[in-house]
Amino acid sequence: MDLNYNENQLLYVETVRKLVKNDITPHILEMEKAHRFPWPIIQKAWEMGVINLCIPESVKGFDVDVFSSAAIIKEISYGDTGIATSAMCNDLANVVISQHGTEEQKERFLRPFVEKPLLASFCLTEPGAGSDNSLMTSFIAKRDDGNYVLNGSKCFITNASYASQFTVLCKTGSPAGSFMACVVIPAPSVTAEDIPDVGNATRTIDLPTGGRIVIGKPEDKLGQRLSNTASVTFEDVVVHPDQIIGNRRFGFKYIMDVLDYARPMVAAIGLGLAKRALDVTIAYTAERKQFGQRICDLPVARDMITAMWKKVELAELSLIKAAWKIQEKAKDAGIYASLAKNTCAEAAVFCSTEGLHLHGGYGFTTDYEISKLARDAHIIDIYEGVREVQNMIIGREIV
Ligand SMILES: Cc1cc2nc3c(=O)[nH]c(=O)nc-3n(C[C@H](O)[C@H](O)[C@H](O)COP(=O)(O)OP(=O)(O)OC[C@H]3O[C@@H](n4cnc5c(N)ncnc54)[C@H](O)[C@@H]3O)c2cc1C
Repeated sequence: MDLNYNENQLLYVETVRKLVKNDITPHILEMEKAHRFPWPIIQKAWEMGVINLCIPESVKGFDVDVFSSAAIIKEISYGDTGIATSAMCNDLANVVISQHGTEEQKERFLRPFVEKPLLASFCLTEPGAGSDNSLMTSFIAKRDDGNYVLNGSKCFITNASYASQFTVLCKTGSPAGSFMACVVIPAPSVTAEDIPDVGNATRTIDLPTGGRIVIGKPEDKLGQRLSNTASVTFEDVVVHPDQIIGNRRFGFKYIMDVLDYARPMVAAIGLGLAKRALDVTIAYTAERKQFGQRICDLPVARDMITAMWKKVELAELSLIKAAWKIQEKAKDAGIYASLAKNTCAEAAVFCSTEGLHLHGGYGFTTDYEISKLARDAHIIDIYEGVREVQNMIIGREIV
């Protein structure tokens, strides 16, 4: 196993580093305060071919392996984890189509993302069904004409205000039953020109095939303010059988496959943030002097910087192992995906919290990036399965 990037991976990493260095880092505090949706960055990332990583070669013309995907997401996250969350969400929504869709479905539902910089949403969480998604109440009911009708409400949905397509998990058969379906709802496409910034507005989509989707006001979040998060309600949305991915009753299995792919990607988001927190803290403490020395030379402060570095390195190793297990299609890939998710989230929270502390009072102001990193970090320990759920998965498998 070679821990160095190969030529291809290096090319991706250098490309994204250039985007981050030129277009994100110098403006990030200003961008975050303005709270405008980062379409220009999404468009550039699309032009560079570093989003829509899960779309297969048969549609996109090239494949991106798991290692490269994690490396790309880590580098975007070094710039901003909100932007990375929005970009990665296309894969969260589309990977189930890549993995379980028919060739026709791949062509129909994935091709638009190759042709234009569009965004997708993955709709799993509901107000009453968070960590325990078996409690969901969204439901597709079969009609006499063979089509289905979807009704239900989802919450905390990334990209919802700008999404051109929604991948939705819902109950099938009986609303109280345990079978879930995975359906894809394409909507009229939205580009930066169509909705440059939704502001505080709701959005209603009247679907040409019947029914409507109502998107709530964007959530006003503690962190990751450059990603968009909103509720999504499906009202009498007509679903043709060819919009159902794979077996109509296998939705729960597909969620597990999506999460096994996505958790290392969230781990990469955590790792990128942890590395950024370490770097800005080293730079700050190397500049500021107290007690006649640079803060980074004061032994107790040096110990903390060392502890931050160790967290980053160990987080990276956990991510490499998870990516390798997934690439190898190992049976126990799931627990390594959970391990990487937890370890990288922990590194992000630790490095941003301790990094803020090492900035003293300045770290508590919005003039320093570390305060934004500390706000951004917490959600990494929550979305795609809270820390306790990852521990539950690991515990269940190892005992
Ligand atoms: C910014 C953001 C973006 C998001 N994007 C998406 C998206 O695109 N699509 C989507 O479907 N969802 C999305 N989510 C939802 C996210 O995945 C959920 O918030 C998360 O899964 C937790 O669900 P919950 O908020 O209902 O918390 P709950 O499930 O109510 O959990 C609350 C707390 O209870 C504890 N807890 C829960 N389960 C256990 C357990 N088994 N053992 C011990 N303790 C436990 C934990 O401390 C947990 O933090 C997003 C959320 C946010 C905030």
